[in-house]
Amino acid sequence: MKTFPRLSLLALLLASLACTTLMGAPAITPLPGQPTRVAPTPPIPATVAPPTVEPSVWESYGQSEVEIMEGIQTTLDKFVRAIETSNEESFIATLDPDNLAFRRFVKTRYLTDGGGSFPDLVVEYLTPRELGLVQAHLRIADDWAMDWQFRLVEGRWVIAEPTREQLGEPEETTTDQFQFRTYAWADEVNPEIMELMVEARAAVLKVLGKVPTETFVVNIRPAYSVTPFEDPNSIAFFIAGTSTQPDRIEIFAPHSLAFGYYLEADGWQVELRRTLVHEFTHATHQRSFDDSGSLNDWMVEGLAEYVSGGSLEGACDAWQADRVIPIVDTESSVVKKRDLGHFDRLEADEVWTAYSLGNSVVAYIADEHGGVEAFWKLAAEVDKVSNLEKAIPQAFGITYKEFDTGWRKWLEQRCQ
Ligand SMILES: [Zn+2]
Repeated sequence: MKTFPRLSLLALLLASLACTTLMGAPAITPLPGQPTRVAPTPPIPATVAPPTVEPSVWESYGQSEVEIMEGIQTTLDKFVRAIETSNEESFIATLDPDNLAFRRFVKTRYLTDGGGSFPDLVVEYLTPRELGLVQAHLRIADDWAMDWQFRLVEGRWVIAEPTREQLGEPEETTTDQFQFRTYAWADEVNPEIMELMVEARAAVLKVLGKVPTETFVVNIRPAYSVTPFEDPNSIAFFIAGTSTQPDRIEIFAPHSLAFGYYLEADGWQVELRRTLVHEFTHATHQRSFDDSGSLNDWMVEGLAEYVSGGSLEGACDAWQADRVIPIVDTESSVVKKRDLGHFDRLEADEVWTAYSLGNSVVAYIADEHGGVEAFWKLAAEVDKVSNLEKAIPQAFGITYKEFDTGWRKWLEQRCQ
């Protein structure tokens, strides 16, 4: 875990793990190197073993399996080297020339926003897909995995995905709780994603005691081309409804490039389930709890991390390095406040720490002040007085300073 090149991957992490809320605050799920991450339900066994593919299946590609693996590995080596040398021409040459939206997205994520040293990507095994695509299971920095698609273009294997036209018409599946919209291309993973969404709803209900009662819209996107002008920054995210659009959760299928990577030992299911619990907590916070307390970013993202069993490792790293971001910055002027109430004013590399610290404040409240009910009690006071320092004495009968001291002691106990 310690060998993971965390800093060099920061842009990649920010790109693949952020989430969006109504407030526009980005949410980042725990970063790699966090073995203490807890799934809301027991983890699913590791990803399925490599598929057994008859050699004759590869004949339709005009190459043997070994040749395809070598061709894809050559492309990946070029991809990594192009990022390291900021060579745009060489980078573009590794991407499907006929899927411009996808090409633009990959370039933005890995070259424009990324750059610098990049871990090697190693092909482990292949799965034949329709439309002339091959799905490659890739290992990244030993412990992590991704599943990308490739296509043979003029003798070269390029990174690809189905275009919007190739995906065809969406299909809908409606249950008592959800209205799923997806595509046949993702049928390999659709049932499992739907099951994870049902589990996520149950996990939120278990901790918070209620969830939105209406049928909830969930869109599964098997490729970037479904919404080609968005800048996806999450594997799944909640979008609050408007007068014309219902609330919904958008999910990138695990075999799309936008999904990013996952822990090989966990399989993609654990990361996706955790993210769905996080996002459905946002939905529940807004719809079933009237967005109470949302004036403070830590109350929104901390709650979502708490309910989804998010890791405290970022909080503990900050505590051990004596770099704890205060709950309330009581010293700076309003516009310069650097605290957990205002994630948008933090440095980019502090934001993931803020999620973990927010999680720790919610966990501290639940542990020391009376469970999740205490969180809602504080949230109600925050809504009344719009000021956390004034709300805490009203909710808990102690000063903000005493609350802050209690939280830091709680961190100390948890982080030793
Ligand atoms: Zn969030």
